[in-house]
Amino acid sequence: MQDLLGDLGLEIFPQVQPLRFYCPCSRDRVLAALNLFGGEELRDMVEKDNGAEATCELCGEVYQIERQELEDLIESLEAQPQAS
Ligand SMILES: [Zn+2]
Repeated sequence: MQDLLGDLGLEIFPQVQPLRFYCPCSRDRVLAALNLFGGEELRDMVEKDNGAEATCELCGEVYQIERQELEDLIESLEAQPQAS
């Protein structure tokens, strides 16, 4: 492949400008996603893992969620009236 391209007089240059893409992830989004697990699951994470770790599938950012943050989530979840 390389030889073939060379013969054609083509060269592939590495991208000069690093490709910057904006990933909309944030700690708040991770926490909002964790909310979807519901209080029971979150409580499980607190008890088993003493926290949680979430990795953004888009940019690979790793978010460490502290035990205290999970407990705050559980508290706010349980403060909400249950739907139906
Ligand atoms: Zn991301």
